[in-house]
Amino acid sequence: MKILVVNAGSSSLKYQLINMNNEEIMAKGLCERIGIEGSQLKHEPKDKDSVVIAEPMKNHTDAIRLVISALVDKNHGVINGMDEIAAVGHRVVHGGEAFNASAIINEDVMKAIEACIDLAPLHNPPAISGIEACKEAMPSVPMVAVFDTAFHQTMPKQAYFYALPYELYEKYKIRRYGFHGTSHKYVAERAAKLLGKPIEELKIITCHLGNGSSITAVKNGKSIDTSMGFTPLAGVVMGTRSGDIDPAIVKFIMEKENLSAKEVDGLLNKKSGVLGLSSVSSDFRDIFTAANDGNDKAKLALDVFAYSVKKYIGEYAAVMGGVDAIVFTAGVGENSVQVRGMIVDDLEFMGIKIDEEKNGIRGKEIDISTADAKVRTLVIPTNEELMIALDTRKLVEKA
Ligand code: AMP
Repeated sequence: MKILVVNAGSSSLKYQLINMNNEEIMAKGLCERIGIEGSQLKHEPKDKDSVVIAEPMKNHTDAIRLVISALVDKNHGVINGMDEIAAVGHRVVHGGEAFNASAIINEDVMKAIEACIDLAPLHNPPAISGIEACKEAMPSVPMVAVFDTAFHQTMPKQAYFYALPYELYEKYKIRRYGFHGTSHKYVAERAAKLLGKPIEELKIITCHLGNGSSITAVKNGKSIDTSMGFTPLAGVVMGTRSGDIDPAIVKFIMEKENLSAKEVDGLLNKKSGVLGLSSVSSDFRDIFTAANDGNDKAKLALDVFAYSVKKYIGEYAAVMGGVDAIVFTAGVGENSVQVRGMIVDDLEFMGIKIDEEKNGIRGKEIDISTADAKVRTLVIPTNEELMIALDTRKLVEKA
């Protein structure tokens, strides 16, 4: 069975065609600058040369058409015809309270995704465009929506309610939702496999540390708390996002700097985090380079970031009544030996202790804890596309 995974952004569309018999990526690619001048598709077929196809794409329908012709192309294609694609899995950021799992896309599901636009005005509309474009191009192929929020729908009320007037929840559904759910679920399941124990018996803290970062407490296979909130701005310090701050700072900055609500939102989302603190970059590699060259603000940014993650580890160990494993994943979590070292430093009292040599190994699933550590510390490369494809297959086979 071959499954196409589609991740549509406002002006981009990423895709992977996965052969589910061996979980191999047959081709992947990225359409960029959709609706903007200079749009192009970079198509990377397995065992063949990559191609860049520069062609105007005025919308997601054009992008999908281009993807399809690349997939079946005589030279750089990987399948003979579209009938080889058994199903399409779509990444959808927000499923609100309507979805606690992935869902086969039908009219009701589309309506429910549309109803969540208010909660994710930048993310859900392109996902809807991506789904509609695929429906137009492949009307008889079953499609599945996989939500970033769904895994966290198991959080108990005390974890997802904010102490705001209750009617704000009733009127606008203001509550914690959490994001990166597909990644947290994937690495938690892989962790259980690696540890050789049923996930139902484990307390796992998953640290998805990338450009955007979030931490999740996974107890007995379920998300019981997560650091991102109503939006992905909350939680730990990120590349350009502030993470948790005193909410009164918002009004203070607006008054002092004479900023509008939209401007202060931009400041918190795009100019804060390690970029804002360091004035160097949002990329952790650049910040490490600057810190090693003696840049004090870069060092401060790294310290504040690592400290914010460490605090969540303590918090989630407390709410789960212990922890069996910590998992590091995503760009920073998978690759940065230094960040992992800084975060778990001094956590030996909790049974967390890593082996320096193992911590230096990259690019594969690995247990980096010392033999005597009570808590296992794991590095697990995330694979959201595979998780989307696995969920898609499960639902399509059941239907
Ligand atoms: P992601 O959002 O998961 O794609 O992660 C992207 C981030 O990973 C980049 O912004 C980098 O800061 C970070 N990253 C990638 N490789 C490394 C590395 N070797 N050391 C530190 N950070 C890295």
